[in-house]
Amino acid sequence: MTIFEKIINKEIPADIVYEDDNVIAFRDIQPQAPIHILIVPKKPIATIQEVPAEDLWLIAEMVKAAQKIADKLQIDGYRLVINNGKIATQAVFHVHMHMLAGRQLSGTLG
Ligand code: AMP
Repeated sequence: MTIFEKIINKEIPADIVYEDDNVIAFRDIQPQAPIHILIVPKKPIATIQEVPAEDLWLIAEMVKAAQKIADKLQIDGYRLVINNGKIATQAVFHVHMHMLAGRQLSGTLG
């Protein structure tokens, strides 16, 4: 079980900013921007590459969560990032989307 499943199960604490039946979102413990939120589907799937076609609606739910969080926190610009695999620096093997905001982001992604 990954650390994100423990957060979903409320076995370890997190600063949760949004939750519904399918998705949870909480603040990253090592923020890379003033606002750094992780948007996580409750269903444990290791990587974005492995999301089965029948579960792709969950990715849309993650985007909907980002829209709601942006409204709630009054964020007018943000970046959404998904890392796939170790080569892309994925460290937690439970699909998640980083939502970065609160400062001018640079134009480079890698
Ligand atoms: P990634 O490299 O895309 O797998 O990102 C994993 C992210 O999870 C990193 O930004 C970590 O700082 C973050 N993280 C790890 N453990 C926790 C935790 N317990 N609560 C919040 N964020 C975490």
